[in-house]
Amino acid sequence: MKRLHNSSVKRGADAPFFQLQAMNKKKGHPVIEINKSWCQGCSICVDFCPKNVLAMKDGYPEVMDLEACNLCMLCEVRCPDFAIMVEVVNA
Ligand code: SF4
Ligand code: SF4
Repeated sequence: MKRLHNSSVKRGADAPFFQLQAMNKKKGHPVIEINKSWCQGCSICVDFCPKNVLAMKDGYPEVMDLEACNLCMLCEVRCPDFAIMVEVVNA
């Protein structure tokens, strides 16, 4: 059986992650909602955010730099408690 090595995995602008990001950027700008009653304060969303948009404050994530958000949705996808949501809204 042929094994897939990391070098064989398709990377770059055609990866689904980048496609989603590009599609979202065309649609509008982000609005990030954090549901504190569901949040467990694990900081996974903060750790996964590639743009340092989020930071923990008083046990909960807080939006520190919305302008930097690239709409990758990693925070939303990685949250185990469905407590953070990124909406794409028109200007
Ligand atoms: S969508 Fe991406 S860049 Fe924006 S806050 Fe979430 S993880 Fe960070
Ligand atoms: S990943 Fe979810 S539960 Fe964990 S701190 Fe972020 S919003 Fe809260």
